[in-house]
Amino acid sequence: MPHTDVTATNPEVLLRYRMDGQVGAMRVLVTGGSGLVGRAIERVVKEEGGRREGEEWIFLSSKDANLMSAEETRALFQKHRPTHVIHLAAMVGGLFRNMRQNLDFWRNNVYINDNVLQASHEVGVVKVVSCLSTCIFPDKTSYPIDETMIHNGPPHESNFGYAYAKRMIDVHNRACFQQYGRRYTAVIPTNVFGPHDNFNIEDGHVLPGLIHKAYLAKKEGKALQVWGSGRPLRQFIYSLDLARLFLWVLREYDEVDPIILSVGEEDEVSIKDAADAVVEALEFKHGVIYDTSKADGQFKKTASNAKLRKYLPDFKFTPFKTAIKETCDWFVANYDIARK
Ligand code: NAP
Ligand code: GDP
Repeated sequence: MPHTDVTATNPEVLLRYRMDGQVGAMRVLVTGGSGLVGRAIERVVKEEGGRREGEEWIFLSSKDANLMSAEETRALFQKHRPTHVIHLAAMVGGLFRNMRQNLDFWRNNVYINDNVLQASHEVGVVKVVSCLSTCIFPDKTSYPIDETMIHNGPPHESNFGYAYAKRMIDVHNRACFQQYGRRYTAVIPTNVFGPHDNFNIEDGHVLPGLIHKAYLAKKEGKALQVWGSGRPLRQFIYSLDLARLFLWVLREYDEVDPIILSVGEEDEVSIKDAADAVVEALEFKHGVIYDTSKADGQFKKTASNAKLRKYLPDFKFTPFKTAIKETCDWFVANYDIARK
């Protein structure tokens, strides 16, 4: 297997787990288990041997509880009494949805995050791994951005609601450690893509948006419309790679400070490169048009993966074009059931 062994065990983490009096197998609750990242973690757990004997994994969707409600969240945690939590549930969207709904992104995510972290503390969860994003980083900054720079200035104005709500997870984690000694942490992924993404053209991120638009344009024999200039730069991570890294963080990573989960700076691509990869994967032949009346958003948010590389020097990311091809194939094969 080309990837790092995500089932390896850090004795210190296990020791703390046992010292907390929670002897026995982990019961992992995954909030947002029905989304892009949640479905990838489920696949790694169930199909790649990510689950250890005796472990219980519970994947939740909003149908199980509305995590914006403190009562529903508390009841859910009392019912399952997890030992570990991977917290993914969030209001998530691409640039254009963020620009339209900054207030909703702020309020929904602040409520969800506070409810999940507080309920975790109340039922004695040993470890929570939450999810930040590189789009919460300061807009005016030096590059590459690292984990110490999250709060160093305002985020890009296009998504300040989402960005500030996410930054508060880090504040919550540090305060919870200071006051109660809880080791709740967070990961910082770059733009994620893969099977089970939200392929809604108006609300979703750039790659699922481009894949869906190219799929429709191919049927209609029309050009692909790429929004903005195509010049902004992004680091993309395949959801399956992120899922493998999530399992490593859950089992091995023992810091409260967050960790960036990203491909290297050298693997940053332009939106034009991303559109070209989609065009190639879908064998699309009707031309590409750049609609510069649409926003470009943050020009770049180049993140350093030096901390990750210090821990996992040998982790192999799926090549971008391979991951794009797998995602396009999944979308075409699952068009009827895909979120769109
Ligand atoms: P997603 O596909 O949109 O999935 C969101 C998940 O959250 C779904 O399972 C959804 O449940 C659940 N959810 C939303 N509102 C909820 C509520 N009020 N109560 C309970 N559950 C709720 O998102 P994703 O892309 O997998 O993102 C997962 C995490 O990664 C998020 O924290 C996100 O901020 C972070 N992240 C994502 C990206 C990216 O590019 N996608 C990049 C960096 C970080 P339903 O299925 O029932 O709606
Ligand atoms: P961001 O990385 O947080 O800014 O969010 P997105 O994943 O939505 O990427 C936005 C970037 O992709 C901007 O530069 C957009 O101009 C560009 N883009 C090009 N076409 C599309 C599209 O169809 N949908 C989206 N969401 N962005 C697009």
